[in-house]
Amino acid sequence: NWKQIRGKLRSEYGDATFNSWLKNIEFEKIDGAKVSMTLPTRFLRDWVLNNYANRIRQFWNAEDETITTVDFQVKPLDKKNGGSHKTTLGLAEATTAFKGQSAAIATTASHDPSLMAPLDPRFTFDNFVVGKSNELAHAAARRVAEAKDSVPFNPLYLYGGVGLGKTHLMHAIGHALAANSPEKKVLYLSAEKFMYRFIRALRFKDTMNFKDQFRSVDVLMIDDVQFIAGKDSTQEEFFHTFNALVDQNHQIIISGDRSPTDLEGMEERMRSRLGWGLVADIHPTDYELRLGILQSKVEQGKIEIEPRILEFLAHRITSNVRELEGALNRVLAYSDLVGRAVTLESTQEVLRDLLRANDRRITIEEIQKKVAEHFNIRMSDMHSARRARAVARPRQVAMYLAKHLTSRSLPEIGRKFGGRDHTTVMHALKKIDELRQEDMVLSEDIDLLMRMLE
Ligand code: ADP
Ligand code: MG
Repeated sequence: NWKQIRGKLRSEYGDATFNSWLKNIEFEKIDGAKVSMTLPTRFLRDWVLNNYANRIRQFWNAEDETITTVDFQVKPLDKKNGGSHKTTLGLAEATTAFKGQSAAIATTASHDPSLMAPLDPRFTFDNFVVGKSNELAHAAARRVAEAKDSVPFNPLYLYGGVGLGKTHLMHAIGHALAANSPEKKVLYLSAEKFMYRFIRALRFKDTMNFKDQFRSVDVLMIDDVQFIAGKDSTQEEFFHTFNALVDQNHQIIISGDRSPTDLEGMEERMRSRLGWGLVADIHPTDYELRLGILQSKVEQGKIEIEPRILEFLAHRITSNVRELEGALNRVLAYSDLVGRAVTLESTQEVLRDLLRANDRRITIEEIQKKVAEHFNIRMSDMHSARRARAVARPRQVAMYLAKHLTSRSLPEIGRKFGGRDHTTVMHALKKIDELRQEDMVLSEDIDLLMRMLE
């Protein structure tokens, strides 16, 4: 149902993106193969349509595979006249509204609705920017995609953190194979979908057919294999599929969020098989690569933006590529909405939450240490029960900085300060806020500490 899909969207795209774009999607109805959903403004509707509709449709399709179309309508939040303002535009008719976002979107599941998950047309090798952190994975993916009659490594196992390009590379392999070796039967799907298909086959006593379908492909790609860790019967079936394909010398490509040996909940024999071929990891991005990716987006979309904005984003949004792209999109959407060019100030304003979340490199321990040094108290006093002003005030300052410079919650901060209650932290924040109005010296101390810590 929609609630579960919302949850998946939030975990896939992160809180910031979810809150900016996806939070306001409302579910209306399911009518046969079509799901109807609404968004409060035309702008949001177009944005979601261009950027997230495909994924949302995939999620619906995974829930119920008879669903092939997802329709977004505009329904203003003001419920009183909501009905009359409705514009009904199906996915297919809606035009691309946003400049620079010209990617075509597959509106319905590809012709083989039974197995293959649709490939995102944007995820090609041409659109993949290569840097030190992903060159091995990229080269291996290319090799597999270009192999005609040989199987260079089996399996190819790609792994890395979220949003670093694993799915992109797999889709790119799919596109390249379709172009280079159209006779090959290629199957791409997530491990989740594999499990879903398998469970269905079990329920409908159709496992023979299931086995035939999977064992007759030339290239099998399974994305996010960690999903089936701990799912024993699915794992068992996957193991047999895997062996059958390897025996026939058919290419298997797998992605996961960690190395085969670190896949907890995965049977030992499966883990060892996964490491048989080539294991290529994708490391976190470096500054050069992030800048390169932003520049490539800007070029593709023919977007006008000052280079220093891109540099700023590449410096500050370090978590992963998905978030980096999301940040750029948000900045552009904002500038489009208000009709003004992007400035550094507007960028900082629009991305406040994201920038803060990306600053989580600073730990509470570091803050405590800096503050203790600065006020010349002992580190242990950050945790102690002493209430003397000389230690209590610096401790409050440290809590205040922890709140402003990290994304920790109040209870988490309390715990790091000798197991204090979240209300104590709240009190400290309020106190320091008040003091900052009156006590110029303290206020400057805090500014100084912030600058040193950042
Ligand atoms: P993962 O599957 O590893 O979580 P994705 O492949 O979904 O990550 O990538 C997230 C987003 O970042 C996608 O929009 C993808 O196109 C983009 N991306 C990731 N790496 C690169 C890269 N090297 N060059 C261009 N785009 C990239
Ligand atoms: Mg992925």
